[in-house]
Amino acid sequence: MTSMTSFPVFIKASSFLYPTHPSLNDNVKSIHYLTSQYFHIQNYSNSQPLRKLILILLTLFCFNPLIAQRNCGTSEALQQMIKDNPKLATVVSSYNNAMLKAQMQYQLKPHTEALPQAVTIPVVVHIVLDNPDLVTDAQVQSQIAVLNKDYTATNSDVMQTPAVWQAIIGNSNINFCLAQQTPDGEPTNGIVRVKTTPGRSFQIYNGAPDVKYSSSGGSDIWDSKRYLNIWVTRLAGNYLGVAAPATYGYPADQLGVVIMYSAFGTEGPALSGTYNKGRTATHEIGHFFGLKHVWGDNTGNCTDDDGIADTPQQSTNTFGCPSFPKLDPCSPTPPGVMFMNYMDYTDDACMHLFTAGQVVRMRYVLESIVTSLMNSNGCTPPVVFPNDAAIRELPLPAGKICDQNITPLVVLRNKGSQPLTSANINYQVGNGPLVTYKWTGNLASFTETTLTLPSSKVNIGIYNIKAYTQLPNGQPDGDPSNDTARNHFNYDAEAQLPFFEGFENDSFPPPGWAIRNPDQSFTWERARDVGSKSKASALMRNLGYNTNFQVDDLLTPILDPMGRDSVFLFFDVAAAVYTNPNATGNQWDTLEVLVTTDCMNSSTMLYQKWGPNLITHPTALQTEFVPAPNEWRRDSVDLTAAVRKGKFQVVFRNISNSENNIYIDNITIVTKDVNEDLRKQGVLVNPNPSSGLVWVTFYQVPEDLLQVSIYNAAGQFVTSLPKSAINSANRMTFNLVNEPNGVYFVKLIYRNRANTIKLMKVR
Ligand code: ZN
Ligand code: CA
Repeated sequence: MTSMTSFPVFIKASSFLYPTHPSLNDNVKSIHYLTSQYFHIQNYSNSQPLRKLILILLTLFCFNPLIAQRNCGTSEALQQMIKDNPKLATVVSSYNNAMLKAQMQYQLKPHTEALPQAVTIPVVVHIVLDNPDLVTDAQVQSQIAVLNKDYTATNSDVMQTPAVWQAIIGNSNINFCLAQQTPDGEPTNGIVRVKTTPGRSFQIYNGAPDVKYSSSGGSDIWDSKRYLNIWVTRLAGNYLGVAAPATYGYPADQLGVVIMYSAFGTEGPALSGTYNKGRTATHEIGHFFGLKHVWGDNTGNCTDDDGIADTPQQSTNTFGCPSFPKLDPCSPTPPGVMFMNYMDYTDDACMHLFTAGQVVRMRYVLESIVTSLMNSNGCTPPVVFPNDAAIRELPLPAGKICDQNITPLVVLRNKGSQPLTSANINYQVGNGPLVTYKWTGNLASFTETTLTLPSSKVNIGIYNIKAYTQLPNGQPDGDPSNDTARNHFNYDAEAQLPFFEGFENDSFPPPGWAIRNPDQSFTWERARDVGSKSKASALMRNLGYNTNFQVDDLLTPILDPMGRDSVFLFFDVAAAVYTNPNATGNQWDTLEVLVTTDCMNSSTMLYQKWGPNLITHPTALQTEFVPAPNEWRRDSVDLTAAVRKGKFQVVFRNISNSENNIYIDNITIVTKDVNEDLRKQGVLVNPNPSSGLVWVTFYQVPEDLLQVSIYNAAGQFVTSLPKSAINSANRMTFNLVNEPNGVYFVKLIYRNRANTIKLMKVR
């Protein structure tokens, strides 16, 4: 906290506070006072203790944003998601109907037990903040304590529930523990801290997914089948929390609740304001278990409700801490509305209960929808052996490999309580010989390292590979179940040139070909009954591919140019667009051709077409494009420059922008041999004799060449071309058709020399 780099956080926090809440004016004034003080001190003093004091003050005043009114993002996020994806409404409504039906069946059934079965749910708390240590372990534990009281109706303030509702106070008998083992079975305190960029906050839209993935600056979920995930973070827009329940159709890797860090738990320096009794998490977990707001998300009318019989009708949310009874247009006579329910918007100190009806719904969701949480072993500390080595992963070799030498990579993890200083690591390809590597090092408990194992050679084929540890620290392994990792790979035969592929056979991609499909969504497929002068082709269904800028590659087998001088690709293409092809500023689907000589570690792009340059169907088409026989075009690409390095693959790359289908067919790759004289002499003038056109072709263009000039037999200048006139086939073209027959001299002029070749012109 002594570093100046934390300063921008403060700027953001204050600007976040300032414009929205008039009630915060006093705080705002003091913040501005501090700001000017701070700048003053920063400019004129380097006094460390003073700076520390100021930063502590800044922490107290600025890092804990006070939220004026409770605002929960759960139903707002749902409404937004349904607007974006109307099909979701059906999913939500079917869950809702299932919950209502279960509640009805519960009413009809005789009940002998006073309480539902006690369960304990493992919780993982992900603290995602620029200063994640601000939320202490004690603050987290205080929140778990609140949940355990509120969900068993043992909270001390439950007795403040008005007498009229005392009889319907619900005890869910749901308990919570901080996880004692990670998804990988290692010890944990159930708290994960992830540091974000300064001032980073998260939007509630879509349930704040960015906070749930490390790839977007958040913390990856722990298996939602085994853990209730709580993310504690800075929410944008003054929201206190947002829940992502299964009953709202959220994907499994986003389920859980997100809570504003200053409204989490009951103690700790991060806590501030009136939302300081842990009820935000009680409320959001209520949503997680299927509960709606008590007012049913009405906007002032009484037609919608929360689907719970024993909560009174209510027109809208209740802020603050009203006195009982509070009447309402939907409950106009005493006892009025149940504003002290956890699913209203009152202050933490003024909410005390779930009802028996709410508990029935929560237990149904727990027992029938998120059932596996009841049987998780996440609350049980794992058994740790002194000596336990594991191969967590065998990432290489995998998939298509381009070299017959394999060099396996393994991730070695010490899952034992003792430091790991030695282990045997074996690998085996198929039923081949065992390769053993005697590793030594020093790996602390629950850490890992990536190791490169000795290389070996494989023949053409498809292989399984496994790697496993033995004798950690020279001792038997405490848990052999985690010793082994597996993968598979294939090393394909090279294809021969000339090469042809028309996609006529059923297998796709064809033997030796490969597909790269990073998003695992739409990719290259075989089009049956559609082809260029044939019955099949390869197809990208861009019409249905609703994602922008996704890359899908179709790779040929490895080909060997065998020292040939020129390599050409020809292929048939058919394409259409959804948007008017003359539209400007549109993002089009793009077809590219690349060449790689190193298994796609690097590549050279040689062809790129989109929109009007790519299409073979002239007008916009809003239905699936199927080319007519005349809607194919033959394109060619000179691969020569890119394949000089040796063996290569051609890559057809589709970049989607949701336009229409792109087909390719009749892939042909051919070589062209160089004239033997050209190879020997380095330059060739032909045809000779010539009737008019004369080509001057270089095997390789000399670096010091300046120009090529032609003189007649009398030594008079006829014509000249500069070096820049040489085309990609290393050739310049002269036209002597209007010159008289006779002897000419082609003079190659270099920087410090010249070379003259005699030429005959005959008609
Ligand atoms: Zn809510
Ligand atoms: Ca082991």
